[in-house]
Amino acid sequence: MGRTVKTEGVVLRSFRFGEADRVLHVYTRDRGRIGALAKGVRKTTSRFGARLEPLSHVELLLHQGSGELSTVTGASLVDAHRPAREDPYRLSVALVGAEAMLRLFVEEERNERAFEAITRFLSAVDAIEPGARGRAALDPLALGFQLKLLWLSGYDPHLEACVECGEVTGLVGYLPRAGGAVCAACSPPETVSLSPEGLRGIHALLRSPLADARGLGLGERAVRDALAVVVAAYEAHGGFRLRTLSA
Ligand SMILES: [Zn+2]
Repeated sequence: MGRTVKTEGVVLRSFRFGEADRVLHVYTRDRGRIGALAKGVRKTTSRFGARLEPLSHVELLLHQGSGELSTVTGASLVDAHRPAREDPYRLSVALVGAEAMLRLFVEEERNERAFEAITRFLSAVDAIEPGARGRAALDPLALGFQLKLLWLSGYDPHLEACVECGEVTGLVGYLPRAGGAVCAACSPPETVSLSPEGLRGIHALLRSPLADARGLGLGERAVRDALAVVVAAYEAHGGFRLRTLSA
């Protein structure tokens, strides 16, 4: 027995399971993160295998049986995000976002803003100009998305004032264990140093729509500082590192 439900989601990851099946990790609008079993999708005759690739935004029919994983019984594409998939630079930016989502949102718990954020992020990745090059970890769109996810998780960096003494000027760094900026007088050795450009850049990324992130004109120092803060926040709050950020 069991029941069948319809849900909209973004496939974040997919891995082989048995001879012909795959397990999908999907971030859904209604239920947050779920795991689902897609049977037979590695056979060339599969009806919907191609629609279940990572980064696909899909409508799924899920059969919830007695086991822990739902089974996919139908899939239709909302957006394949083909441009993101077909360009190596775009793909590497998209995979940073997918990994961040997987690490920060592990529960089956509805968070519609997080769902909206991943769909907007992937649309913005689709729109990255052809021929863009560089390290995806330093891409302003990837950084802006991760800062917004940290904010949605309650771990956003507080950079308006020193978290120790409240001073609003002369901020020199980010203190991971306190989750915010510190002034020179309050900065212990583990402080991640931040330039004025870095502080301004992180503010701008948090305030701007994702689609504008790459147009903010952030310099090398600003994106390096933003990356250092994101990495330190992951380590301090989640105890993890993203593989895609060390590439
Ligand atoms: Zn201080």
